[in-house]
Amino acid sequence: MCSELHGFMLIYYTIESLRAKLSEFRAQNQSLGFVPTMGALHQGHLSLIAECQKKTKVSICSIFVNPTQFNNTNDLAKYPVDLERDIDLLKSAGCDILFAPSAAEMYPNGPESNHFDFGKIERVMEGEHRPGHFNGVGTVVGKFFEIIEPDIAFFGEKDFQQLAIINKLVELKNYDVEIAGCPILREPDGLAMSSRNVRLTKEQRKAAPTIFKSLQFAKYNYRSFTPNTLKEKVQELINIEDELNVEHVEIRTADNLSEVVEWPVNTDFRIFVAVFAGEIRLIDNEQLN
Ligand code: AMP
Repeated sequence: MCSELHGFMLIYYTIESLRAKLSEFRAQNQSLGFVPTMGALHQGHLSLIAECQKKTKVSICSIFVNPTQFNNTNDLAKYPVDLERDIDLLKSAGCDILFAPSAAEMYPNGPESNHFDFGKIERVMEGEHRPGHFNGVGTVVGKFFEIIEPDIAFFGEKDFQQLAIINKLVELKNYDVEIAGCPILREPDGLAMSSRNVRLTKEQRKAAPTIFKSLQFAKYNYRSFTPNTLKEKVQELINIEDELNVEHVEIRTADNLSEVVEWPVNTDFRIFVAVFAGEIRLIDNEQLN
């Protein structure tokens, strides 16, 4: 952590004021670490901040619920927001800087999304089921990279496909930033931490750990099945819960998200799921080998 800031957190709402401060750090050769979030923070987010503090001198967290990455207006309207609580959490985690811009600050001409050619990784899973989502993510993360110019940016493997998209974005736009992937943090019962979890009803919350249990079943038993039958089995296991409804189960390689049709040798592969609990869409994934 930057000693000058110990015990404090600076909060910026405008690009100009943030950039002015960051240029001071850059002039002192302080490395900048960046953790983009949409707020409603939980321990998963704070684990990214902790990783950021280990690897860089100044930790910068952004909180911005980016309208252009929501393909579902209801999901955007109901996205949990609690800036005061988030500020307290970030302060106690020792984060140095919070950047919390308004939509008008980020999109002065109104929300807009660039079109990127991320290749085939944008056409599967989240890309297939959430049209426009990754163009929205690429647009906002690109803007943040250009504003902050971080040395390292930290992303969770909870959104594994997003991490792949960000790596592709860096390649496409030639950003001078290192991308660090961080492991998924889970509740004690295995449910992947997510801002959307607070929206689950008591019954949905009780059923939700079945998602992780099914992924664990897949991890320890995959060799007994073909990839296709394993996907069906996992879908069945999750759908046993009345409260849960599988959208997709996929098994793909970690490097380029190619579909796994036979168990590969010498390549990491993962199982990915998206599951509806009522109208709340939960995603999770787990490395199988
Ligand atoms: P979000 O606020 O959901 O956009 O997430 C901000 C960042 O936190 C992304 O890089 C996510 O992948 C990461 N993240 C969200 N949930 C978790 C989790 N349970 N464990 C680790 N990282 C997470």
